[in-house]
Amino acid sequence: MTVDAAATLIGSARSAVALTGAGVSAESGIPTFRGEGGLWTKYDPVKVSSIDAFLADPTAYWEVARERGGLAQAARPNAGHEALAALEARGRLHAVVTQNTDGLHQAAGSKRVVELHGSGRTVECLACGAREPRSDVQARLEVEMPPRCRTCGATLLKPTVVFFGQAMPPAAVREAYALAEQADVMVVVGTSLVVYPAADVPLAAVRAGARLIVINAEPTPFDRLAEVVIHGRSGDVLPRIVDLIGG
Ligand code: NAD
Ligand code: ZN
Repeated sequence: MTVDAAATLIGSARSAVALTGAGVSAESGIPTFRGEGGLWTKYDPVKVSSIDAFLADPTAYWEVARERGGLAQAARPNAGHEALAALEARGRLHAVVTQNTDGLHQAAGSKRVVELHGSGRTVECLACGAREPRSDVQARLEVEMPPRCRTCGATLLKPTVVFFGQAMPPAAVREAYALAEQADVMVVVGTSLVVYPAADVPLAAVRAGARLIVINAEPTPFDRLAEVVIHGRSGDVLPRIVDLIGG
């Protein structure tokens, strides 16, 4: 059975690394971009989260955030996040590299988390650099649109997530590649693997000799490179792997 095969691989790995995407948080109620029920069936991503569109009209971004942002704020880690944290705590997983910006891996207790696309939990003023918690900004959207910087008054508050047209944080990218190149097992979970350069991370691991496991609700372009492919929900599959590996 494939879940057994995944457990055997991870259980005997010297350095297993996970790469996660929006699918891991789907069971926490945060919609994915692509795939069934994905957000991009409703919004145009280039309009909502490209840096050029944001700079031209921050209000358009925050209007969508007012409508949807509460969802991410209220979300709690699910059994998939918890299973990854448990694997790390038991010394079975070296690190989680994530494309997610929701902070749920950390909330579940994962210690080494590399955020390739930044964090939606913090907001930064592009005029003066001041930062404040997203929850504070989110809370005043009803009375202040677009939200103003508490320090300088500018209306250029942007979550510290990587928007389309922005570079990924160099330190996180370096760390992700270093982890991938040292990994002997790479576990890809809940990502469509069509966003580059994030999708290069498992490729780098495979090129360096890692064995690849893919756990995703739908087929991905990397399935053919993987030794184990499991099409299922991460909140079901990951806890079963943890159980099979044991303490
Ligand atoms: P994606 O939306 O492109 O793909 C998600 C994949 O997860 C799909 O292939 C889908 O079939 C699969 N999936 C859905 N539910 C699943 C489940 N319960 N278990 C396992 N797989 C499941 O997401 P992506 O590849 O991460 O790329 C999208 C980009 O969007 C990323 O860059 C990320 O920064 C951003 N994003 C982040 C969040 C978040 O932080 N939670 C949410 C949406 C988008
Ligand atoms: Zn400011």
